[in-house]
Amino acid sequence: MEESRKINVAIDGYSSCGKSTVAKLLAKELQYSYVDTGAMYRAVALYFLERGLIKDGKIPAGLIADSLDKITITFKFNEKLKSSETYLNGENVERKIRDPKVSKVVSGVSSIKEVRDKLSALQKDMGAEKGIVMDGRDIGTAILPNAELKLFLTSDIDIRTQRRYEELTAKGYKITERDVKKNLMDRDYQDTHREENPLRKADDAIEIDNSELSMSELMDKIHTEVNKKLLYLSPNKN
Ligand code: C5P
Repeated sequence: MEESRKINVAIDGYSSCGKSTVAKLLAKELQYSYVDTGAMYRAVALYFLERGLIKDGKIPAGLIADSLDKITITFKFNEKLKSSETYLNGENVERKIRDPKVSKVVSGVSSIKEVRDKLSALQKDMGAEKGIVMDGRDIGTAILPNAELKLFLTSDIDIRTQRRYEELTAKGYKITERDVKKNLMDRDYQDTHREENPLRKADDAIEIDNSELSMSELMDKIHTEVNKKLLYLSPNKN
């Protein structure tokens, strides 16, 4: 597809609403690049966690800038798994960053201004060309404010808990549903109440409640919205 006919898609929403599943699928179908911005915040949180820099959920202010200078985050496409994986200073951390220990501290880390400044700049660069599907919490509002299509996913907290719980237990984590629910609620609270670019629906985003939808029903809704935007860019449009 010609560059001029490509669009950017911003997908935001609460934790575990299915954003990354949808974003990955859509990017694959459109042959666009997928950027998982949550993975970038998770990689920074992992860096702090592995060095014992997080005390009572906080990082001493004097250590933040110096640590951030030492962090490089990249994505590489794994041909075997057919998906993109996150690398922290050259190490594949895709599995480590999904650990509940990282989920517990990541929203605290993502509320730090210096962290957001660094990652936002990288994400804006990645979205400078069309043909990107990016998911996160501030994509439609702050990172790609000019994205042609903005989606805001929501879903009932108990349904989100159940989905995340099944995902984590299938990976072998010993965790209770209560802890999963608490983590999702804590993160939603922190993500919507932080000072720097809090999670909120962009005025021009289309809200989709994913509580009762199957994956194919959800994708059907999204395809309808994508097609409207692509048709608008089509040279044959009247
Ligand atoms: O998307 P995921 O749940 O992996 O994101 C992990 C955390 O990273 C979120 O709870 C949020 O605190 C932070 N995040 C953010 N801004 C983004 C993406 C993620 O603050 N654009």
